[in-house]
Amino acid sequence: MELSSLMQRLRHTYVSGLTRSHAWRMTQLKQLALMLETHGAELLEALHSDLGKSQAEGWLTELGYLTSDIEHTCKRLRKWMQPTRVSQPLMAWPGKSFLQPEPLGVVLIIGAWNYPLQLLLSPLIAALAAGNCVVLKPSELAPATASLMARLLPDYLANEAVQVVNGGADTAQALLQQRFDHIMYTGGGRVGRIVMKAAAEHLTPVTLELGGKSPAVVLADADIKTAARRIAWGKWLNAGQTCIAPDYVLVDESVKEPFLEALREAIESFFGDDAADADDYGMIVNEQHWQRLVDYLDQGTLYYGGEFDRQARYIEPTIMTEVATDSPVMQEEIFGPLLPVLTVPNLASAIEFIRDRDKPLALYGFSGSTRSLQQLTEQTHAGNQCNNDTLMFMLNPKLPFGGVGPSGMGRYHGKFGFDTFSHQKSVMQRPFWFDPNFRYPPYTSFKQKL
Ligand code: NAD
Repeated sequence: MELSSLMQRLRHTYVSGLTRSHAWRMTQLKQLALMLETHGAELLEALHSDLGKSQAEGWLTELGYLTSDIEHTCKRLRKWMQPTRVSQPLMAWPGKSFLQPEPLGVVLIIGAWNYPLQLLLSPLIAALAAGNCVVLKPSELAPATASLMARLLPDYLANEAVQVVNGGADTAQALLQQRFDHIMYTGGGRVGRIVMKAAAEHLTPVTLELGGKSPAVVLADADIKTAARRIAWGKWLNAGQTCIAPDYVLVDESVKEPFLEALREAIESFFGDDAADADDYGMIVNEQHWQRLVDYLDQGTLYYGGEFDRQARYIEPTIMTEVATDSPVMQEEIFGPLLPVLTVPNLASAIEFIRDRDKPLALYGFSGSTRSLQQLTEQTHAGNQCNNDTLMFMLNPKLPFGGVGPSGMGRYHGKFGFDTFSHQKSVMQRPFWFDPNFRYPPYTSFKQKL
């Protein structure tokens, strides 16, 4: 279908009011849950084909995640749709004031390839819950998942309200020419800028879920073994292709050796002696990203790993030390299984290091001291922070997810997603029966004293 007629169809649906009722929204969400349940095996297979994701990882980070997202939303949707009453000032008495959530209209969701299901469907859940019509643009870099979306979604969701458009950058650009009421984009900052410029043409608001270098700080008083296991899990999940993966570590120099040793042990306990044979270790999305990552390998000392295989798009979990802060691996977001470990003399210099750079999407602090963690939290900026663990904050739908500064703008998850795809219309309503003269001209001196 031509994009302009597709847009016309969705706008027509939106204007008809079909998507407004609680019942319609619930039906769509339940249909989506049914699709995930019925086609779980196929979806996991597509994730495996695109990224070598194991079934367990595919379930934990994509299918299971989405299933609980839908449950959480369905349970609360009626309440979220209710107006929120606020107090009425005396001057406007009698009457009532409230915030009425209303859908935005027709919205565009552009997904990324690293969690190709979660990053496409979690925004969709929020957009449908808020009563919008939606165009979905999956990432072309996860082709198996993208084509499965185009095949399955039309069988489950109202086609007059939800459309999948597959294609690459050209398709995304063509979509961006259209007038949407909101755009949510997940991906890198370069394209983020393109999206925002295109949106500006129509004064369309955007949510940009971007990336950046997310640091992990390990202080001397941390439980080193547990810190290393949790960092290793967050880093090498999906072969490091996670927007909130720890990008690099700043470790207190007094515990550098035990920390490196504990990291090595964690890798081997997860993936055995050779991660190339591990079912639970993924592959790099394509050859271009693989080459980009391999080029980083000589920018420091290899403490662990460094093996690679072009054919299998494999790069071993790798720990790098002695990395110069001005080298590309410390200047660019790594987005792969290489972990530079740098030393710092103390917390203050870790804070200074982080503050000297772009505000990251995620920040991880590891310390046995609540005071030190508080200091790290209060003296740095980050979209999200998780102390003494990595990634786990994603499991709490009561916490909004989003970046700040170059790591993004806007937020979603749970009620925050519903709010992103809604307009909170302010409404004041007054009765006719009380209409004193004092607010109307002529403003006599008596009235001015009131
Ligand atoms: P990508 O290549 O999958 O691109 C994302 C989307 O942008 C795709 O749908 C693609 O078709 C579209 N696109 C590509 N070029 C375009 C162009 N010229 N014009 C318009 N659209 C275009 O994703 P990526 O950029 O490789 O993703 C990696 C980045 O995404 C990393 O920086 C990562 O940190 C970030 N990321 C952020 C989150 C988050 O939730 N904040 C999640 C995942 C990834």
